[in-house]
Amino acid sequence: MAESLRAVKGMNDILPPESARWEWFEAKVRALMTRYGYANVRTPIVESTALFVRGIGEVTDIVEKEMYSFTDSMNGDKLTLRPEATAGIVRAMIEHNALYNGPMRVWSEVSVFRHERPQKGRYRQFHQIDVEALGFKGPDVDAEQILMCRALLVDLGIPMANVRLELNSLGQADERLAHRAALIKHFEAHAEVLDEEAKRRLQSNPLRILDTKNPAMQAMVEAAPKLMDFLGEVSLAHLNAVRGVLDAVGLEYRINPRLVRGLDYYNLTVFEWVTDLLGSQGTVCGGGRYDGLFEQLGGKPTPAVGFGLGIERMLLLLEAVGVLPPLNAPDVYAIVPSADAMTTAMATCEALRTAGVNVQMHGAGAESWGGIKSQFKRADASGARFALIFGADELARGEVACKSLRDADVPQRTVKLAEAAVWAAELRNA
Ligand code: ATP
Ligand code: MG
Repeated sequence: MAESLRAVKGMNDILPPESARWEWFEAKVRALMTRYGYANVRTPIVESTALFVRGIGEVTDIVEKEMYSFTDSMNGDKLTLRPEATAGIVRAMIEHNALYNGPMRVWSEVSVFRHERPQKGRYRQFHQIDVEALGFKGPDVDAEQILMCRALLVDLGIPMANVRLELNSLGQADERLAHRAALIKHFEAHAEVLDEEAKRRLQSNPLRILDTKNPAMQAMVEAAPKLMDFLGEVSLAHLNAVRGVLDAVGLEYRINPRLVRGLDYYNLTVFEWVTDLLGSQGTVCGGGRYDGLFEQLGGKPTPAVGFGLGIERMLLLLEAVGVLPPLNAPDVYAIVPSADAMTTAMATCEALRTAGVNVQMHGAGAESWGGIKSQFKRADASGARFALIFGADELARGEVACKSLRDADVPQRTVKLAEAAVWAAELRNA
C-alpha cells in the first residue's frame, strides 16, 4: 500500500455527521443577514502579501508570525493565504469602486489561515462569518452589529448567561498618540517584566503589548495607563451613543479598557463576545470600527465597522451548552429488496422528490445489494422517518409498503405507486 497522506497539521476535514451542524449554523446565519439587510460577498482566498502587511499592521502577531506567505513559483509574486477577511473585502470595494452609490452592508463566510499552535478552538485553517458595514459613520451601525451577534446567539439557543459582551473605545489617532507616550513610560518603568516580544514592540507598537497572552505580564498590563482616560469629547460621545442603544434594548456589557484587539486598523468602538466555557479560546466573536483602513489601502476616506465570528468556536460553544443541532435526515429511506425492483423504485422516488420529499435510496451494485435486514439497519441509521419497501408482491399490485421508522404503533400500510404525489404530502418533513 502506498504511504498514507494526511491533512496539514491544524487543518480539519469536516465530514458527516458534523457537516450537518455546519449547514444548520450557516442557515441561521443566512437568515440573520437577510433580516438585517447584509448582502453576501466572496473574495479570493489568496491576496498580495502587501495587502495584509499594510492592512493589519506590520507589528502584529498575525503579520509577524502567523501568515501563510509564499512566492508564486510562476511569476515570483508574493502571496498570502488570507489570515482575516476585512482587508480583502476593503480591497475589493476600492478596486470596484463599489461604494459609488452609497454605503453597503456585506457579509462573507471565509476560510482563514494562521500559523498558530493548534489546540481545541485554535486551528491553522479556521472559518469565520465576517460582517462589514462600509461607508457608515454613525455609532448606530456599531450597535447594530453588536445586536446582530446577540440575535445570532439567541437564534442558536446559546443562553446569555454563558456569554458576555466586552466593549471599549480605541479613540482617534491623536488620542492614541498621547496614550502611547504614557504607555511607553509605564512599560519602561517596568522593563524587568517585559518579555522579548514586548521589548521589541515597546517603540514600534506598545499598544500591542496590552494584547499579550503572557501571564507574567498581566499585572503590569493591568496597571498600565488606560486609553479611556485619553479620549476626547467626540470619541466619548461616540462610545456613549453605542452604550445608549445597548442600554435601550437591555443588552448588558462590560467596559474593558484592556480590550485592544489583535489588528492595528481599529479605532473608536471595539468589542468582543466572550465565554468562560472554552478556556483561553473564549473569544467567539470580535470586531470594531476601522475608519482609517480604506485610506491606508489606497481608497477614499470611508468610515466602516465590522466583526468576525469564529465558526469552530461557536460550534464548540453550542456543544458546551448542550445545544445539539438537528442532523440532516431524509424523510424517506427507500428499501429495494431485489435488483428487479430498482427501476420502479427509482421512478417512484423521483416522483416523490419532485413533490418535495427528501428521499435516500439504498444504492448498491448487483453483488452488494444487501438483505432486507441490513437495508433496514441503514434506513434506521439514516434518521429517516419512513421506509418505503419496494417488495415484489406489492409492486406486482402497483403498490409499495410504507413503514414508520419512528413510531412502532403506526401500522405498516401500502400505498399506490400511481398516487405518489397524493401521499407524498404526508411524508414530507413539514
Ligand atoms: P484570539 O485572541 O483567540 O487569538 P483573535 O483576536 O486573534 O482571537 P480575530 O482576529 O478577532 O481573533 O478573529 C475573529 C474570531 O475568529 C475570534 O473571535 C475567534 O472566534 C476566531 N479565531 C481566531 N483565531 C482562531 C484560530 N486560530 N482558530 C479558530 N478560531 C479562531
Ligand atoms: Mg489571535
